[in-house]
Amino acid sequence: TEPVLEIKNLNVDYGLGDQSVHAIRDVSLTLHRGEVLGLAGESGSGKSTLAYGMTRLLPPPGVITGGQVIYTPESGDPYDVLQLTDRQLRGFRWSETAIVFQGAMNSLNPVHKISTQLTDVLRAHEPKMSESSRNARAREMLKLVGIAADRMDAYPHQLSGGMRQRVMIGMALILQPQVVIMDEPTTALDVVMQRQILGQLIELRERLGFSVIFITHDLSLLVEFSNRIAIMYGGRIVEEAPASALYRDSLHPYSQGLLGSFPALRGPRRELTGIPGSPPDLKGMPSGCSFHPRCPKAFDPCATEIPVLTAHGDRSAACWLVER
Ligand code: ATP
Ligand code: SF4
Ligand code: MG
Repeated sequence: TEPVLEIKNLNVDYGLGDQSVHAIRDVSLTLHRGEVLGLAGESGSGKSTLAYGMTRLLPPPGVITGGQVIYTPESGDPYDVLQLTDRQLRGFRWSETAIVFQGAMNSLNPVHKISTQLTDVLRAHEPKMSESSRNARAREMLKLVGIAADRMDAYPHQLSGGMRQRVMIGMALILQPQVVIMDEPTTALDVVMQRQILGQLIELRERLGFSVIFITHDLSLLVEFSNRIAIMYGGRIVEEAPASALYRDSLHPYSQGLLGSFPALRGPRRELTGIPGSPPDLKGMPSGCSFHPRCPKAFDPCATEIPVLTAHGDRSAACWLVER
């Protein structure tokens, strides 16, 4: 299928000059129309920075130092999101690509009814829409995410965390974007609720036809719900593969370590191994393959030469073991 969002050689730094750290290192990643792409990696690997970078929502001192983010609208020519003016960017966000942030459910305005917060998005982006159409659309969205009609006029504090998160999803979908990015929307929610919300999003995707980038460190959720998975380490993508292939036999030792950190979905129980050591510090990124100090399979070239992400059929990996 055709790509809807193509990240090409994206680089992001925090800070300027010799104080800067390189947080996103030459990341290339493609989201295809209609698919769910999962993005996983330990804390600090750069998942949020990548999401904020590609939507130009990086908080200072974050700066994009290179790359392209090519967006292909449903009708019309592809364009580079990084080249949009601020005015064009306001049109792009919400209407073309919507993002639900980490902990977004706490960003609802406590003094406004949830229905009002949804109609406000429409008021800002579709000023010509009539008041009654706005109300109808807000009701429809809330119904779609499973909020009962009698809760429409509730205030955020009257709703559970899971319901507030669903309101955020409704808000993200209200302008019918092509791409929805969810950055760990499941933090602070219990496991049952995480599954429900992600399951619901997938169901909505089937009905409304948008594409999803779903960011989490819970790889088991991604194996279950996404089409493809990209694994980040130290600001780079180290492996990318169809979810089933990644689960069956991942190519990269880091992915193998992450997969060893959660119980098998099916089949025999296996021992949880986890990954010894801790993720690298951006200020002192190891030479060569940045995973080498923790890698059980490290060998000759690993400490000195950086492995590049290379395609192997429908998957790719950045590791000297699979580099042929
Ligand atoms: P988590 O799973 O905890 O959300 P993440 O994968 O989203 O982690 P990021 O938040 O993108 O990781 O952080 C990537 C790296 O950038 C980390 O090393 C972090 O310390 C660094 N970083 C993030 N924000 C800033 C900032 N404002 N200034 C300097 N460094 C930052
Ligand atoms: Fe391990 Fe070497 Fe592969 Fe890096 S390149 S993951 S250190 S084997
Ligand atoms: Mg994050």
